[in-house]
Amino acid sequence: MAALAALRRRARDAFWGALPPSRVIRRGPATVKRVALTFDDGPQPETEAYLEAMDRLGVPGTFFLMGDLSSERPEMLREYTRRGHQLGAHGWNHHPFPTLGIGGLRDQLRRTEAVIGPQPTGRPWVRPPYGALSARSLAQILAEGLTIAMWSFDSYDYDATDADQVVARCAPEAIGPGEVLLFHEGHAHTLAALPRIVDGLHRAGYECVTMADLIAS
Ligand SMILES: [Zn+2]
Repeated sequence: MAALAALRRRARDAFWGALPPSRVIRRGPATVKRVALTFDDGPQPETEAYLEAMDRLGVPGTFFLMGDLSSERPEMLREYTRRGHQLGAHGWNHHPFPTLGIGGLRDQLRRTEAVIGPQPTGRPWVRPPYGALSARSLAQILAEGLTIAMWSFDSYDYDATDADQVVARCAPEAIGPGEVLLFHEGHAHTLAALPRIVDGLHRAGYECVTMADLIAS
């Protein structure tokens, strides 16, 4: 089993390693003790509480937002930015990109970008819903001029039933320098787990930064 896992890991690393590293980002350099906390699927009713928690912890996040939900909450979009978080797109309505035609994917990307607006990172960032990509959708996203933001560490918070599970999965021993941690908005247990996760990372000597800052490390 261990050999199979190692083979799978090698195949995955070879796949990601073959892509242009500045345009398809999975993680930052492993040489600096920094990590990025990233949150998908917002804005959600709990967003304000997430932002309050991040403020109290003094850490920035990177939020990948859905176009349809964002268009209903323009004041929340300003709030993320005002508090120093990085924003990226997560599709208009969470439709998996590989199942869309060229026009449909273009529509999802452009409409969401129009709602989120220009970001200080310059080139817009997108995290595909479910992390799902095909060769065709990947090529189209890059041709549209976007940076693709994946992740290297899944908290599996969507699958957890309480905060303890999320905290246990995100123990600092399990996390390495440069990792991009995947979380989701809209989960009470993720929100409740955040202070303990960030505290553990800080105690282990990690700094939490935005994804843009992580890759600039
Ligand atoms: Zn999502």
